[in-house]
Parts: sequence; structure tokens; C-alpha cells
Amino acid sequence: MSTLFRHLPSMAQVLAGLDADADMAALPRPLVKEHVNGFLDLCREEIRAGIIADKDALALAALMPRLTAYVRSCSRPHFRRVLNGTGVVIHTNLGRSLLARPAIEAVAEACAHYSNCEFDLTTGKRGSRYSHVEKILCDITGAEAALVVNNNAAAVFIMLETLARGREVVVSRGQLVEIGGSFRIPDVMAKSGAILREVGATNRTHAHDYEQAIGDETAALMRVHTSNFRMVGFTKEVSLPEMRALGDRYGLPVIEDLGSGTLYALAGDGLLGEPTVQQVVAQGADVVSFSGDKVLGGPQAGIIVGRKEYVDRIKKNPINRAVRIDKMTLAALEATLRLYLDMDVARREVPTLRMITASQESLRSKARRLADAVRAELGDMAEVTMRKGFSRVGGGAFPEYDLPGTLVTVNLVGISADALRDALFDTDPPLVARIEDDVFLLDPRTLASSELKLAANALRQAVDTIKDNT
Ligand SMILES: *Cc1c(COP(=O)(O)O)cnc(C)c1O
Repeated sequence: MSTLFRHLPSMAQVLAGLDADADMAALPRPLVKEHVNGFLDLCREEIRAGIIADKDALALAALMPRLTAYVRSCSRPHFRRVLNGTGVVIHTNLGRSLLARPAIEAVAEACAHYSNCEFDLTTGKRGSRYSHVEKILCDITGAEAALVVNNNAAAVFIMLETLARGREVVVSRGQLVEIGGSFRIPDVMAKSGAILREVGATNRTHAHDYEQAIGDETAALMRVHTSNFRMVGFTKEVSLPEMRALGDRYGLPVIEDLGSGTLYALAGDGLLGEPTVQQVVAQGADVVSFSGDKVLGGPQAGIIVGRKEYVDRIKKNPINRAVRIDKMTLAALEATLRLYLDMDVARREVPTLRMITASQESLRSKARRLADAVRAELGDMAEVTMRKGFSRVGGGAFPEYDLPGTLVTVNLVGISADALRDALFDTDPPLVARIEDDVFLLDPRTLASSELKLAANALRQAVDTIKDNT
């Protein structure tokens, strides 16, 4: 055994071998060396374990295919594209919304060239970065003023820091929600320095609950849209018009954290009637915040719209500098918002809206193409079927609201659904699937037509890996 170690190729030999492959030669050299060392260590372990038992297996030519695959897989960038076969449209763990084509182009343009990011081309003086999106946000939502910050959590924070720091904000206990990643809205709110005055019971809050809590220390009334869960049964929330009336009676601003916030009335497509931002503005909320990358389908951002007197105060808050958006976000957001100037265009062009509102026929047709592609890759090995099922909007939006569609199930003899799902995390590109009642499922809703063959090929890669390892 000890003599075998001497037959391992040297680093110099391995590097010379790898350099024949243009892809390998293009990788950063220190990275390649690190992973070649890792591979040689692996070979040493295999010699010790008796897995490699003759010197021919250690010849450079014999090692090369495995070595190349190893270095390629280890040297990949950490941030990678994945295929979303889960059917969760706004999947926070998979990067939330995909940008529309014009938004992608606007980002590339903003990155490649100088821009009027903070330059006023009419005066030649310093301009405001909000100017690019404020008018269009007002035009679409009907609000008097707008600004945009890093994300909606930052929007909630800066709204409260500006309007209620050191004073009380009255909010219903039933709306103090956790928004994922064990991130709780009340914790963000409390960090702003506003004192949360919780009213009502978990399931029911009445107008008189708010009214009783209002006093000298009250700075604002707040509503949080509980978009990631739904209470059913004996429940009551105070409506926005009722809150508006209370705000008017006591001279207090009404703040609404809409969470997902949609500009497109999905109710028209037979979907659950979540209030649109336009409706909330029209019903008299003074300041409204929502995410740029949830149902809106744009870049990560926190959008604040509302009455000018309040928005102006928020704009002047120095914290704005700490939560400001960058030029790529601005470019993507403006391009996305322009699509909303015609709601039919938005529905067609914004991928998030397109996926949410996809027709039953288009989902069935995509499922059929996916099933065919999987059969073509896996042949007799797999039992591939189509069945009715449900997708989710995700992103803390539209709780318990199932979007009906067609799913593709894949059953492989001798390979469990869990083993298949796990092996798919390591394919190129990785494919994230869903398992329900031990059945392996792919939901075509969140796969682009151009990704169906890639998904089928990923399944093939996963099956090959599983077979190689057994
Ligand atoms: C998602 C959400 C947030 C946080 O928005 P981010 O854009 O993720 O920061 C805040 N409030 C509610 C109600 C939400 O649903």
C-alpha cells in the first residue's frame, strides 16, 4: 500500500493536465490548487481504505475525468442559479421574484455605465435618487408622495422611527406577526424606539379597543397586513375606513404595513381579493409600506407611499442613508413600475404575476412537456404521471390560498423520493422539488418553458449519481 502513494501524480502534473481544458485553465489558480489538494487527499484516503488498490488507477489519465469533475464542482461560484420546481412563486429562500426582461436590461445598463443616479440633468446639480421612481409610484397608487428604501422591514422601521419614536403606536395584537426566518415584525417595530401599545385579543380587535388606548403619548395608529397566515372563525379586525375615522377624530396618522402589497387587482383573475395599494391609499391610510420583490415582482425594496407631510419627514430622517437603495435596484424598480402603467402589460410581462395568473391550459401543456422530457431522459426507469394539484403564491402572501394547476410526479423503482430530492441539490443546475405524502413532485408553474429540459436533465444527473454511489 505504502508504495501506491508514490504513484499519485504531483501537483505540477495535475495542473498541466487540467490546463488542457480551457474551462479549467480559466479558473482562479489558487482555487484550483486548493481543490486539487483536496482531491489528492481523497485519493490517499481511498488508498488507505483499499478502494484504490493498483497503480494503474492512479495514472493521471485514469484520474482525469473524476478529477476534472471534482475541481469543477468545488470551484463553482457559491451563489448559483437553481431550478424552482416547488410551485412556490415568491420563494424567499430561492430569491423571491424574478425580474421582467426590461428590468434586467435596466440593471445591466445601470451597472455598465455612469448614470443620472443622483444628478439633475435639468440643472446640472445634485439630484435625488428618489426622483426616478416617486412620480410613477404616485401615478400608479394615487398617493401624494413616495420613497423607497432597502426592503419592507426597513420601511416599517423608518416609518415608525420618524413618526413615533419615544411615543406610542397603537396596534392590534392579532397583527403582530412573524415574517419568516424567525423575524418578527414587533421586534423591528420596537427597535425603532416606538412603544407598541398592543390592543385587542389575538382573534378580535374592535374600534373601541384602539380608542381606549389613545392618549397623550399616542403618535400613530398602525395596521399590519397579516398576509402570511389567516385567522378563521370568531375573528374581528378593524377596517381601514374605521381606522381612518379614528385617526381623524384624534388627529393621528394611520400607518399600514401591507407586507406583500399588490398593484395589480388579482381578484379580476379569480384570485383571492387582497387589497391593492391603490385601494389602501384611497381608503385614507396616511403612510403605506410594501415589498418590491413580493407580488409586485420587482427588485428587493421597501416602498413607502402616502401623504406628503409624512413622507417628507421620512425622507429627511438620517437613517434613510443607512437603508437607501442602490442604483441597480432603482433601475430595476423603475423599469418594473413602467410595466404597471398598463395592467395587462404588467400581467403578461412581470414573471411573478404571469406565474400567479397562469391559465389551467398553459399549466397542463407545460406539465405535459415536462413529463415528456423526463420520460425521454429516464425511459423505463421512471414512472411519470400528471395529476391535479396546487401551487402557492408564497412570500408571506395569500395564506392557505392554493393556486390550482397540474403537477408531474416521478416515481423511481428503488430510489426514495427523499433520496431523489437530496441528489437534485447537487446537479448542474440544482433542481428544488417538492414532496407530498412521500410522492416526488415537480410543479411546472415555477419552471420556465426553457427550463423543462434542464429539469429533466437534472433528474438524469441525480439518478446517475445515486446509482454510482450504490
Ligand atoms: C414580508 C413582510 C415584511 C418584510 O418585508 P421585506 O421586504 O422582506 O423586508 C414586513 N411586513 C409584512 C407584513 C410582511 O409580509
